[in-house]
Amino acid sequence: MVVALQANYLEVELEAPPVDVPPRLLCTRRTRLNHRGAAVHVGDRVRVEAIDCDHARAVVAEVEPRSSFLVRPPVANASCILVAVAVEQPAFDADQVSRFLLTAEKTGLQVLLVLTKCDLLDADALSKLRKRLQGWGYEPILVSTRSGMGLEELRAHLATVPISVLCGPSGVGKSSLLNGLLPGLALRVGAVSGRLQRGRHTTRHVELHAFSPGSRVADTPGFNRPELPDDVSNLEVLFPELRVQLDQHPCRFRDCLHRDEPGCGVTRDWERYPMYRKAVEQLLEISRPFRAG
Ligand code: GDP
Ligand code: ZN
Repeated sequence: MVVALQANYLEVELEAPPVDVPPRLLCTRRTRLNHRGAAVHVGDRVRVEAIDCDHARAVVAEVEPRSSFLVRPPVANASCILVAVAVEQPAFDADQVSRFLLTAEKTGLQVLLVLTKCDLLDADALSKLRKRLQGWGYEPILVSTRSGMGLEELRAHLATVPISVLCGPSGVGKSSLLNGLLPGLALRVGAVSGRLQRGRHTTRHVELHAFSPGSRVADTPGFNRPELPDDVSNLEVLFPELRVQLDQHPCRFRDCLHRDEPGCGVTRDWERYPMYRKAVEQLLEISRPFRAG
């Protein structure tokens, strides 16, 4: 598996290296692969050949078909997106959190919400926030790298996922979390600085960090520009609390946008309904000139 890219080299970890072969190889790729334009990405499973054991070098000859591919950040074969947001410092911002969640849902992969810095809220406030997020259709994992809260629960979940992608606003404690989960990793932790309490922006390459031979986490500098879908009909699936309603009471018309259409089975009494409506209007606004033309 390709676990990191650096300039023209690929770092490849072998699945079951024979005793005399180093487990991690620095690889170039066959020119044939370059010519076909078949890019190789972190997370790809590849076949290597021409292994030079003394220098831990090899050549990537073949890329296996992918089960999924994220464009930004470029990660192949991920199956779970972890959205990390802080309960405080920076303060929980429902709109921002939702934008990250919608962007994560847009990938079609499993989405797991991780609430960080839980040491900064008391038990009552935490339980209120948890209930609120359950209303959004999520069962958040509450963690703190300070107190160690939730780290075992998160670790247990991650152990079941071959490749997860960690994203979230900067300064919420993603690096600290990875360091907490993977002792010995020692990623740089940024100070939350300035009036806005945003973390310092640090650019890193995408890299997969292993928990165990079978499970890895990509930490992703690139996943921080949330976006809406291109087509309004793809919006509803991004809201898990709406998906549940639609499963139970499908609307009369398949292209129902759950505004005031006849036979709409969707209620209005959920927290993010106004946000959903606003996004619908926004997307219709964007597509209108093209439709008219
Ligand atoms: P990133 O930008 O998301 O990678 O965030 P960092 O891991 O760099 O952390 C940003 C700041 O939050 C640092 O000052 C950390 O010390 C602090 N921090 C990280 N985790 C926790 C936590 O669990 N509790 C508290 N109170 N602070 C934390
Ligand atoms: Zn409807």
